[in-house]
Amino acid sequence: MRRLVFRAQHAGKRVGVVPTMGALHAGHLSLVDAARDDCDLVVTTIFVNPTQFGSGEDFESYPRDLAADADLLAPHGCDYLFAPTSSEVYPDGYATTLDVGPVAHPFEGKHRPEHFAGVATVVLKLLHMVPADVACFGKKDYQQTLVVQRMVTDLNVPTALRICPTIREADGLAMSSRNAYLTSTERHQAAGLHASLQLAKKMTGAGERDAGVLTQAVKAHLERLGGIQVDYLAFVRAGTIDEVAMLDGPTVALLAAHVGKARLIDNLEIEG
Ligand code: AMP
Repeated sequence: MRRLVFRAQHAGKRVGVVPTMGALHAGHLSLVDAARDDCDLVVTTIFVNPTQFGSGEDFESYPRDLAADADLLAPHGCDYLFAPTSSEVYPDGYATTLDVGPVAHPFEGKHRPEHFAGVATVVLKLLHMVPADVACFGKKDYQQTLVVQRMVTDLNVPTALRICPTIREADGLAMSSRNAYLTSTERHQAAGLHASLQLAKKMTGAGERDAGVLTQAVKAHLERLGGIQVDYLAFVRAGTIDEVAMLDGPTVALLAAHVGKARLIDNLEIEG
C-alpha cells in the first residue's frame, strides 16, 4: 500500500484517503467524492478498530459487509479499498497508544474513556500505512475531527485534513452505520435528535443566548418524543471543545444519546 502511494506521488499524483469502519452509507461516500474531486488517486480504508470500542460496546455486533461496501465504492471512483486484518494493524505484543490531551477528555472522552486513544492511534497507523496527501473526515464526528487535527499537528503528520459536511436522511437524521440498529419506532424517535438541535438554532436566531435555556428546551423536546436517553448536550465555541454558558459567536451544539440499542451523536453549527 505504501509503495503504491509513494509511486503515485512520485509520478506527481495527489493521493486522498478516506478512513472508515465500513457499513458504508451516503455520508462515507460523500467523503470519497470529496477525495475524488481533490485527488488523482483515492484510497478508502475499512477497519473496525477494536481499540476504540469500550467493553460492553458494539464491537462484535458492528455491521460488516466488505463485498457490499466494495460495490458501493466502485461507482464513486474509489481506486483502492484497503481493509487490513487486526493482526496486520496490531502486531503481537502491541503496546503503544496515543494520548491526545485535553481535547479528548470531555464529552465523548468522558462517556467512552478509551475511545479517542484508540481513534488517534489507529488514524496515525492508517496514515502511516496509506501516507496520503489528504485525508477526509466527517464533521458529524465533531470532537473526533479536533482530536485527529491535534494529533496530526502535534506529531508532524504530513497529511492535510479535509473536514466534510454531515450527510443526513430526508428527515434530518445524520447518516450513521449504527442507524441500522434502530427499530422503525426508534428510527422515528431518532429524527428528533436533529430536530431538537434545529430548535436550539431557531431559538438562537430569535435572540436566545443562554445555553442553559437552550439546553432545557432541547431536552424538553427530546423528552416529549420519548425513547431517547441523552448522554450529553453542550454548546461549544466553534472549532474548539470549550463549553460556553452564554453564546457570543459561532457555536456548535453537541448531542449524544441512546435510542434503543444505538448510541448516536450529532452536532449543529449555530450562531451566537
Ligand atoms: P465511521 O465509519 O463511522 O468511522 O466513519 C468514517 C468517516 O465517515 C468519519 O470521518 C465520519 O465522520 C464520517 N461520517 C460518518 N457519518 C457521516 C455522515 N452522516 N456525513 C458525513 N460524514 C460522515
